[in-house]
Amino acid sequence: MQVAVIGAGIIGVSCALALQARGAEVVIYDRDGPAAGASRGNAGVFATYAVVPEFTPGLLKQLPRMLLDPQGPLSIRLRYLPFLVPWGLRALAASRPERVAEVTEALGALLSRVTPDADALLARTGTQDLRRDSGGLHIFRTEAARRSHAAEWEEMARLGVAFRALDGDGIRALEPAISERYSAGYQLLDLQQTVNPEQLVRRLFAAFLKAGGRFEQAEVQALDGQGLTARITLAGGEIRRHPQVVVAAGIHSVALCRSMDLRLPLQAERGYNTTIPNPGVRLTRPTCVVESGYYMSPMDMGLRIGGKVELAGTRAGARWSRARVMARHAQKVLPGLSVANGRPWMGLRPSTPDSLPVIGPVPGHPAVMLACGHSHLGLTLSAPTGTLVADLLGGRAPAIDPAPYGVERFL
Ligand SMILES: Cc1cc2nc3c(=O)[nH]c(=O)nc-3n(C[C@H](O)[C@H](O)[C@H](O)COP(=O)(O)OP(=O)(O)OC[C@H]3O[C@@H](n4cnc5c(N)ncnc54)[C@H](O)[C@@H]3O)c2cc1C
Repeated sequence: MQVAVIGAGIIGVSCALALQARGAEVVIYDRDGPAAGASRGNAGVFATYAVVPEFTPGLLKQLPRMLLDPQGPLSIRLRYLPFLVPWGLRALAASRPERVAEVTEALGALLSRVTPDADALLARTGTQDLRRDSGGLHIFRTEAARRSHAAEWEEMARLGVAFRALDGDGIRALEPAISERYSAGYQLLDLQQTVNPEQLVRRLFAAFLKAGGRFEQAEVQALDGQGLTARITLAGGEIRRHPQVVVAAGIHSVALCRSMDLRLPLQAERGYNTTIPNPGVRLTRPTCVVESGYYMSPMDMGLRIGGKVELAGTRAGARWSRARVMARHAQKVLPGLSVANGRPWMGLRPSTPDSLPVIGPVPGHPAVMLACGHSHLGLTLSAPTGTLVADLLGGRAPAIDPAPYGVERFL
């Protein structure tokens, strides 16, 4: 089997390694290099607890308040609003209780494969040192705020996520640096994190090259997979043919798919963060400040503070004030936190309206396989996505039913 993978983010590299492990000859194309996109600066959490989709009836009720709160987890640039309507309507449809139940089931299936598949991938590539059993923490200002999320946590408990509820003393017993303003929380017991998301991609990529994989730094402009082989058009016009192509170009998969007349409903959920080399306080596990929608993640490079969602498309310039607002807010969560020399970053989460990734062949283009749309969970779902893509292309029966992830659900 000979396969070309477009994109050297965490998804493309994981697919390439899984295919290589099955004996495929693989070439990766990326216009920049490994970890150039969203995979570079994420919060590093293997969020195996995240079985509940992003859009639920509960979230819709909170939406107006969220949008009006400058410290809230979501912002929309007004000029972008008209472009958001079709995706927003799909997200609304996906928030119906029946669809939420289906998505929870499908997310749960994929998430159940994270630990076994990531264990195998990291062991095979000698990258286990970049992941640690950190556990995790979600904190709230008040017990009432925690209760407003109770339905989500009850659903997580039903699906086997291991956690325990904490009061203020319980929070500070785990993380003494957290302010007394936070008086309710949950400790996630089986959570893992990578201590360096960029290095993880780079080292997986190096393992891929070492095992004989090839890389071409080139921008792919168009794709056609209607025949027995797929045709790739590179910037500059050169055409390449490959028996199979995997599209793992993150949010830019949308533009690539247009050349096959496929309108992928992905939206860039922009996220900002700041990595502080010497924060002056100690946090030992990724901690989500739930009401404000951001994570504080201790990493090799320092403390990374950020998250939230900004809807403004792919082209608008970064508003670095969003990163600064979170870093400043974190000073109230971690008294004594110094934000000096913080490095800001912005990344584009490739988000579907129903929180499920898109994995599977393109209808009418059997030589092209999609592996994109991983939203907030790209790092988490990278290893199982690679396994599923390798199973589908290798003609092996996958461990989980691939049907819920197919692009057909949007057609
Ligand atoms: C602030 C923030 C925090 C996050 N935290 C977490 C977390 O804790 N846990 C988690 O699981 N997920 C998290 N995520 C989400 C996660 O980072 C993404 O889902 C994931 O990185 C997507 O990976 P990808 O490989 O699909 O895309 P990308 O990493 O964006 O990679 C796409 C690659 O394709 C290349 N490319 C694009 N177009 C072309 C083209 N035409 N030709 C050639 N190459 C092309 C790009 O150069 C890029 O290298 C977070 C995201 C953000 C923004």
